[in-house]
Amino acid sequence: MKAVIKSSPGPGFIEVDVPVPEPGTSEVRIRVEAASICGTDIHLYDWNPWAAGRVVPPRIMGHEICGVIDAIGSGVTDRAVGTRVAVESHIVCRTCPECLRGEFHVCRNTSILGVDRDGGFAEFIAVPSVNTWPLWDDCDPAVGAAMEPVGNAVHATSVADLSGSTVVVMGAGPIGCACCAIARAKGAAHIIAVDRSPFRAALAKTMGADAGCTLEPGASMQEVISQVLGDREVDGVLEMSGAVEAIQTAVHLVRPGGWISMLGLGDAPVAVDFSTDVVMRGLTLYGIVGRELFATWEETTRLIRTGAISMTSLITDRLPFTGSAIDEAVRRLKKGTSGKIVLTR
Ligand SMILES: [Zn+2]
Ligand SMILES: [Zn+2]
Repeated sequence: MKAVIKSSPGPGFIEVDVPVPEPGTSEVRIRVEAASICGTDIHLYDWNPWAAGRVVPPRIMGHEICGVIDAIGSGVTDRAVGTRVAVESHIVCRTCPECLRGEFHVCRNTSILGVDRDGGFAEFIAVPSVNTWPLWDDCDPAVGAAMEPVGNAVHATSVADLSGSTVVVMGAGPIGCACCAIARAKGAAHIIAVDRSPFRAALAKTMGADAGCTLEPGASMQEVISQVLGDREVDGVLEMSGAVEAIQTAVHLVRPGGWISMLGLGDAPVAVDFSTDVVMRGLTLYGIVGRELFATWEETTRLIRTGAISMTSLITDRLPFTGSAIDEAVRRLKKGTSGKIVLTR
């Protein structure tokens, strides 16, 4: 089968022929219909320090996947051939202390598809059956693939009661844009999104933000946000960018007693005056990793099926399922001229 892999340490992916995987015990094999491209894939493509420290090539890339089960391994009784599924990309051990507490999303032995084991930029993938999420009849495979990152937004927005609140979304990539839609659905009174890309700031507005601010080079994020904020107080920040300025602005921007939900990953430690800006102001910071298994998937399904999250707006680009299309997708994502990009067959 064709698969897009990281063949050796260094930038880029290549398309190669590899054997079709056989499903192991408790696994299913999925014929992949759609896969979407993530910011993590860009780090892997560029081979940044995180990728270099974690990934052992050769490795099939891709962790946002939808397809149809075409074979089941021994011991699988809860899934059937022919079922269309989305895939939870975090494979957890179910035996560590966190797993035993039901906190699977912080499993200390998590293995991530397309990072720690072979992913889904391929014709087929074998995964544990418990990592598949059966989809509804007539679910668009592109939507199924994008449920994984939308789940990140559902998780990030679950930390506080958003109704009546003013929230700022920092970083209007696909997850930030999904946060805008969810905050709107949950009754937030005022939603301000900010991004360096005018396209993405506009998309955030389409998705549900009241204001989508473009941060011009050299401009102060605090000033840009304050201008649209007027005399409103910010109850919470959804920090989806990982940018140093965003995090440092967030701790000043939220009102005393407010919260910051942090999902964006930066490249280096960030200096914050915790005593003055966090402790003395009584802020609550939440680190958001992955999705809660599987409450987040239930809520994501509900939000998409009720139309609260417009997936047709969020998925801006559909490309063929080829290695060269992934190169093109990485280029477009770096330019900031797209929302979610999905490869489809
Ligand atoms: Zn992802
Ligand atoms: Zn575990």
